[in-house]
Amino acid sequence: MIPITKVSLDKAEIKNLLEVVESGMLAQGKKTQELEELFAEYCGTKHAIAVSSGTAALHAALYAAGIRNDDEVITTPFTFVATANPIVMQNGKVIFADIDESTFNIDPKEVEKKITKKTKAIIAVDLYGQPADYTQLKKISEKYGLTIIQDAAQSHAAQYKNTMSGSHGDMGCFSFYATKNMMCGEGGMITTSNDLYAEQCRRFRHHGQSQQTRYEYHDIGYNYRITDLQSAIALAQLKKLDMLTNKRIQNAKTLTQGIKNIEGITPPSHPEYKKHVYHQYTIKCDNKKVKRDDLFQYLRENNIGAGKYYPKPLHLHPHFQNMGYKKNDYPISERISTQVISLPVHPYLTKEELEHIISVLHAYAKKT
Ligand SMILES: *Cc1c(COP(=O)(O)O)cnc(C)c1O
Repeated sequence: MIPITKVSLDKAEIKNLLEVVESGMLAQGKKTQELEELFAEYCGTKHAIAVSSGTAALHAALYAAGIRNDDEVITTPFTFVATANPIVMQNGKVIFADIDESTFNIDPKEVEKKITKKTKAIIAVDLYGQPADYTQLKKISEKYGLTIIQDAAQSHAAQYKNTMSGSHGDMGCFSFYATKNMMCGEGGMITTSNDLYAEQCRRFRHHGQSQQTRYEYHDIGYNYRITDLQSAIALAQLKKLDMLTNKRIQNAKTLTQGIKNIEGITPPSHPEYKKHVYHQYTIKCDNKKVKRDDLFQYLRENNIGAGKYYPKPLHLHPHFQNMGYKKNDYPISERISTQVISLPVHPYLTKEELEHIISVLHAYAKKT
């Protein structure tokens, strides 16, 4: 089976990790500080605050944005559940807005329709590695005084109009979970150029403790600290990120070149001013000539580890239906979730594996 994801771990990670083990200091320390400094510089933001996961990053960002009792936060239903759950953790209200069907990202026009007096923030997700439409989102946020949180869990190193992922909203939230483009098993990061947001995120990750005085607590906080063991791995990954990203982009180009003429399949696309980093390479089946679930089965039978991300939009899960959401609320997300298949695009695909994926797709098209 050609796996959908393959990790990149080598001597650099082991060397960094050994340094931490030999130092005897495993908790958040020097390596984490170094990671934060280099990551902020990489993203072009003033601050980066490392935390224990992408979920923790989103939770801290929502706390810093001031989300409390029933404040409304607008986000996409076509994402991983961890985008929306932190809104609930802050006692906020999850308000979904439907997506654009060509980019799979939240549609700014739909966002504007959902704004009320209680709206405080927008979480835009750079789904599959393609940045959301920040120019339009920013216009809306300025008009209504909202905070933009960029869920960059899938978009390390992506760009929007030549600026780096993590710098496009008021805060950027990254995940370093084991399958992400840059990873350390579990981990996360908030990026921001706002001093107050940065201070609040730092406080939140360590029990609400004051930045100035130890053992003085301002507010509720959590233990959302990362460890230096994880930061050591993330540091080695950051050094390789550009190289790994270029390979993903190259693989995506090869796949698109190979399959673009197949009737019934639309390869991923993006406007020129975005750099898509292909956390996933996701094709869209028309469900007429090419039926998604049949093709998925066929790919699996031919040893291709395809994935369905995501098979069901969030608002159709019991957790969100309990909040009043129902079928037909977000028709584009509902239809797209029946059409998408993600193909392997990871940096370690060989030429033969890429050719195999392309030829299996052609063989399927010929058969139907
Ligand atoms: C992975 C992911 C998260 C959560 O990150 P964790 O590190 O797993 O907590 C949030 N949003 C999106 C879009 C993700 O893909």
